[in-house]
Amino acid sequence: MFKPQMWKGKKAGVLGLGKSGQAVALLLHACGIEVLISEETIVRPTVGKSLPPDIKIETGGHTAALFECDFWVKSPGISPRTPILIEGHKRKIPVYSELETAVAFLPKGVRLFAVSGTNGKTTTTSLLGEILKTQNAGTDHHVWVCGNIGNPVSLCVGKVAPGDDVVIEVSSYQLEDSTYFRPQFACLLNITPDHLEHHGGMRNYIKAKGKIFKNQRANDVFVVNGADVSCVELAEKAKSRVIAFSTYPKHLLKTAVFFDGDELVFSDGHQIRPPQLKGMHNVENAMAAALMALQAGVSADTVQKAFNNFQPIEHRIEQFAYHRGVVYVNDSKATNLDSTITALKSFEKCHNIWLILGGRDKGASYEVLRPYLQDYCKHVLTIGEAMDKIERELPGYPFMRCYTLDKAVQVAMNGAVQGDVVLLSPACASFDQFKSFEDRGRVFKRLVDARVFKERTEKK
Ligand code: ADP
Repeated sequence: MFKPQMWKGKKAGVLGLGKSGQAVALLLHACGIEVLISEETIVRPTVGKSLPPDIKIETGGHTAALFECDFWVKSPGISPRTPILIEGHKRKIPVYSELETAVAFLPKGVRLFAVSGTNGKTTTTSLLGEILKTQNAGTDHHVWVCGNIGNPVSLCVGKVAPGDDVVIEVSSYQLEDSTYFRPQFACLLNITPDHLEHHGGMRNYIKAKGKIFKNQRANDVFVVNGADVSCVELAEKAKSRVIAFSTYPKHLLKTAVFFDGDELVFSDGHQIRPPQLKGMHNVENAMAAALMALQAGVSADTVQKAFNNFQPIEHRIEQFAYHRGVVYVNDSKATNLDSTITALKSFEKCHNIWLILGGRDKGASYEVLRPYLQDYCKHVLTIGEAMDKIERELPGYPFMRCYTLDKAVQVAMNGAVQGDVVLLSPACASFDQFKSFEDRGRVFKRLVDARVFKERTEKK
């Protein structure tokens, strides 16, 4: 286990000069540890400039100085099969994850909540964060929402005081090289194929996800999707209290909650209306967040209050424009097949969706999309690097090749008629044409808004 006092006065090598790498470097440095950040790629000269000057930085490759470090901390994006990690392993250099390193700095008396899953992490983490904030309002106890949600755990931990709650969104990348991570409240929402190239296949991906509860003890709580085969198989090994949820009538584990079409009904009799978010997947996210909170002693009234005030999150089935009877929806966060299917399923089967699909491929087969495209879509507009693969794996489907988001918006806006939906839900990563999924979503909204504005002003 990473123990800060054990490494005092020693040298740390931090792999990766991204947000998490910089955050963990600062944390280690503040603890009196000498730090070298080593970045494989060439980065803009401004990156890392705000760090204290005695944190050393090397970019554009790793040097021998890295092997002189006593231990390494790995940023989550780096594949475990990169040559540098294989070499570190051979030389028996201890390697810790950013997550595990950061958590080791938390004071005693903090409640640790962790949320993982292929899809729904950010929504569930945010819901839980809001519930706990509602509970702690007016007290001295703070709630810290961090992790994969865009706020490295290492940036938070220095501010956390005993009695606070820490809610972490945890990705499979962060879990895969964690060995001792032990949240008191863990949640696994679902497991479907994603990031297979990074993990080297589905088995490793599932194994990584299982680490969210692996070290839990009898009094800890593990909230899990009771209808997801991979989740249920993993849960059989849990030593903690397993509490299942599902919106499906057929599930493999007995569930502690069901949805009556209007309210979440808990086995202890409580009834809570879920937040106003589109789709059954969000009912499941609400179930998971509520179960964790109720298990942590939050009252049903407090959960209800937080749900009532909850606002939809940007880039997640976000309806942002309505023009000439056409609804425009930004689901740029759908970076895998399952989330795109989820987004489609949140609409009626009306063949009225103009779906914008594609970007950087992530390794899974698009074949699974076929019935959904047939049931929900009027047209499917393909963009980005994945266009060829999508067409190859769905032969005969009449795709409209658009290459860029700009062109796809143009085609969809020219063709859509009253009652149609234009949906960006790409099932791919964004990095082929955009900086991030947020960038892609904002560009989409700007393109649509600009055209709406133009048409409205021309009409006047
Ligand atoms: P994550 O942080 O895991 O990427 P988000 O909460 O940001 O998840 O949601 C991203 C997308 O994933 C949503 O737009 C939706 O299409 C899909 N999604 C969200 N929750 C679920 C769920 N519980 N099950 C399946 N798909 C979901």
